[in-house]
Amino acid sequence: MGNKPQRIGIMGGTFDPIHMGHLLMAESVRMDYGLDKVLFIPTGTSPHKDDCAITPAIDRYIMTMMATYSNPCFFVSPIERDRPGPSYTIDTVRALVAEYEPGTEFYFLAGTDAVLELHTWNNINELLDLCHFVAASRPGKVRTIEQEIERLGPKAMERIHRLTTPELEISSTDIRERVRLGKSIRYFVPENVEHYIHKEGLYRK
Ligand code: ATP
Ligand code: MG
Repeated sequence: MGNKPQRIGIMGGTFDPIHMGHLLMAESVRMDYGLDKVLFIPTGTSPHKDDCAITPAIDRYIMTMMATYSNPCFFVSPIERDRPGPSYTIDTVRALVAEYEPGTEFYFLAGTDAVLELHTWNNINELLDLCHFVAASRPGKVRTIEQEIERLGPKAMERIHRLTTPELEISSTDIRERVRLGKSIRYFVPENVEHYIHKEGLYRK
């Protein structure tokens, strides 16, 4: 490893299901920031999504595994899946900091919608001490992110980095809806994930 500290990307999400938008974003950030690896961390029961029933954690975990397996730099962590009760990013990042060598640099990958919610996150101040954030966005969305960063204060200006990435107009919500309506999700998700969804009968109602 030499003296160069490891750079670890953290890609948190519900991944219900994981899709091409997630994968393209993570790979773009990985390349631009020279990340050694990206850890995909599917939520257990998400504190940000208490609305309706989400797919069992094990299905979301398996699909995340399947989608990332072919990328030698992508890994999946069961850390939130296995934690009972609601899971907060601060707990996850604290655990990772304790697990890795001192000096390891962590980069939390977040899309525009996630960045705009940062002020509501638990212990956001400590989180900004423990990791960098990479706000992946399209050129048009930069202004609104800018306002959120200002609102969070000077530490956020230092620790939240903006990166313009090619973005696919895809969301898990849209994919679930398409399956429910019997529409194709080919090319929205990796082929093996598409097969898993149909075989397990996910999102039919
Ligand atoms: P849902 O519609 O259920 O909210 P989602 O598509 O937004 O699902 P999440 O699991 O909520 O997916 O998102 C995980 C992370 O991936 C968040 O940081 C989110 O901003 C980011 N993300 C989601 N979709 C895209 C996309 N198409 N391009 C880039 N980033 C994305
Ligand atoms: Mg979302």
